[in-house]
Parts: sequence; structure tokens; C-alpha cells
Amino acid sequence: MSIFDHKLSTIARSRRSVLRSLARLAGTGVALPFVAALEPSRAFAQTPAPPAGPPPRPAPQPGTRLVLLGTHGGPGIEQNRAETASAVVVDGTPYLVDCGYGSLRNLVLSTIGYQQLDTIFFTHLHDDHTSDLPALMSHQWTGGAKKTSTEIYGPPGTTKLIEAALGFLRSNTEIRMVDEGRTIDPVTLFHGHDVPATPAPTRVFADDRVTVTAVESAHFPARATAKMTHRALAYRFDTKQRSIVFTGDTAYSENIVGLAKGADLFVCECMAQSVYEANIARAREAEAAGNPVSIARHVAETHSTPRDVGRMAAKAQVKTVVLHHLLPGARQPGGLDYPLSNFTDGVRAEFAGEVIVGQDLMVL
Ligand SMILES: [Zn+2]
Ligand SMILES: [Zn+2]
Repeated sequence: MSIFDHKLSTIARSRRSVLRSLARLAGTGVALPFVAALEPSRAFAQTPAPPAGPPPRPAPQPGTRLVLLGTHGGPGIEQNRAETASAVVVDGTPYLVDCGYGSLRNLVLSTIGYQQLDTIFFTHLHDDHTSDLPALMSHQWTGGAKKTSTEIYGPPGTTKLIEAALGFLRSNTEIRMVDEGRTIDPVTLFHGHDVPATPAPTRVFADDRVTVTAVESAHFPARATAKMTHRALAYRFDTKQRSIVFTGDTAYSENIVGLAKGADLFVCECMAQSVYEANIARAREAEAAGNPVSIARHVAETHSTPRDVGRMAAKAQVKTVVLHHLLPGARQPGGLDYPLSNFTDGVRAEFAGEVIVGQDLMVL
């Protein structure tokens, strides 16, 4: 078999595997993703073909939609899930929450696009939530069509992050301003805003479509926050039609319970129980070897098990849980490493409402 034939048969196998996974999801009643207009009731039945050019943008639709752009948990590049990103689309206007690697491509595949995106929120500044920001800023500026500014909100350090991203873009902008006669200085287009991290909900943004409040989440333990100014946030979006809460990365958090009271959608990170147990075991081994601070300890202590998700959702009395930032993601082409029950059983043991396992390009 030639290398080319081998590639074709691998692609065919992975397509069959995607279809099998989607069929399994359909059988469990889990919502399926789709790519196209922002209608929550439609689903695609096969892997979408790459668009030949920029997809046509549908006319803005009234209402509030949640679009999951990247649902992979933690840093890592894989075939089926992009790093973390979501969009809240209110009457056709998008607001981005996090911008991990793959966000830009999935903004295009979702038909939201990226040129008209004016408002971005970072839950925290880990790279699996920020990696695509320089690419987004670069293409917004180089695309040339953007006339309005992009305002980027996040925890302390966000303003510096934007200044650094502008530094990354400087050679490109200098060359094109000299050689192509461009006149808009990107410094006038991109602005960072540091948001305070508070235990009680604090309003951090409002316009005529949405009000956004934030609290500090439980992603950075006291042993770390004692030595740094970095903090992690959870956000709540309230629109005329809906309330949507994004936990960002977090362990169980009473702050988030307070933020999420009665929310329609609770978009919560989730680490499979087996991942938690494996990392606790590794952390203990590392500690016994004289390394009390380890990646395994970070994973186990600063993320949420399915039961943690269920306890927060039940106490906050949210209507629907949307599992997001899934640890582990799907590492095999077309398949999940773990059955969905590894994520959902623990949640359902604590929470009686609807539970949806998020997928990239899912619209709710
Ligand atoms: Zn993360
Ligand atoms: Zn993180």
C-alpha cells in the first residue's frame, strides 16, 4: 500500500469512527453539534467538509445562543477538540470567552467569523485559554476590514498580555504600513482590561445586550496565589432571554455557586473521575520523592470531578449543565478515550437536571 493509499484508508476509518461516536451520542440523548446557521435544533450527520472559501454568514438571528468552539481540557493539540473557547451570540453579536489554540478556525467553521468580534473575556491566562489570541489580533488587523476596536477583559495580567501580543505583531504591522500604505496603528484597535477577582459577583461589563459579572474561581490554590498576582475568574452572562455561566477552570467553588444561582446554562469544566484518581496517585508518588508541587497535584487539586460539578450545579439550582474543557479530550481520531458515562455519572449522582457533554461547534 502506498503512503497515499494508507492516508486515504486512515481518513475513511476515522470518518467511520466519528459517525459511530455521533450515533452513540444520539442514542444517549446528548445534543449533537452542527456547523451552519445558529439554530439549536439542527445537527450534522457527518464530518463537515472543509469550506472552499469563507462560509457565507447567516443573517443575525434574534435571541441568545451558546456556541462551544473548543472543548478540549488542558493544553494539547488533537484532531477532534480545539483548546478552550466559547461564544455567546446575542442578537447576532458575538462575545468570546477564552481563545485557546484552534479558536480562530472554529470561529470560521461556526460561521461566527472573527473580523466583527469586538469583545473577548479571559477566564485566566493559562496558554490553553489564550494561545490563539495573537493569531486573532493579527488577522483582525491584517484583514483590514475591522474599523471598531477589540476590547479584551481578563484577570490581572491581561493588559500586559495584550501589550505583549501587540509586540509580537509589530514587525508585521511595520512592514505592511510601510509597504502597503496601511494607516491604522494596531495599538488603537486592541485594548486590554484587568478585571478584579472578587469572592462576590462583580459587574465587569455591560452594554445594551448583555451584563457580565465575575467572581474569582478556585483554579489557583492559596499556596500559589500567595506567591503571584495571577487569578482565575468565572463569568456570568445575563441577556434578555438567558443566563449563561462559564466556570473557566476551577475546583469546587462556593464563589461560583453564588455566581450561578438559577442560571439557565452552567458551562463547567470537568475531569473524568479516573483522571482525578490517576493524578492523585502520581502526586503522592511525586511528594514521596520530594516534589510536593507537581503537574499531577495541579491537575487533581485545581479542576472539578463530575461530583464537584454536580454539587455546584445542584446547590446553585441551575437548569442545565454543559460539560466543557473535558479531561481527557478525544485523543484517538474520531473517538473518545473514555465513555461519556465517565463524565456524566458523577454529575447525575448529585444533580437532577439536564446534563449535556459538550463538543466543538455545538450550539445550544
Ligand atoms: Zn484549562
Ligand atoms: Zn487553567
